[in-house]
Amino acid sequence: MSLNLDSETIMIRCPHCSAMYEELISRLKYEPKLSCPSCEKYVGVNLLELYTALDSAEKSCEALFQKLAGAAGGRSLPE
Ligand SMILES: [Zn+2]
Repeated sequence: MSLNLDSETIMIRCPHCSAMYEELISRLKYEPKLSCPSCEKYVGVNLLELYTALDSAEKSCEALFQKLAGAAGGRSLPE
């Protein structure tokens, strides 16, 4: 089971003017270059940080699913 977080949004904070705005994760994955809607300066997204955050989100969800499956008497999911 894998999560699809592409349609989720995350908050980005502009390092130039500190404006907060939302961006689609799918957009960041394929085009991690943004211009701030407030000051219109280039904002680079740290993809490593993005993937680390996504990875830990997936892992915690998987752990939850496995816990639920275990509680229902199921076996651990084959990888
Ligand atoms: Zn800005």
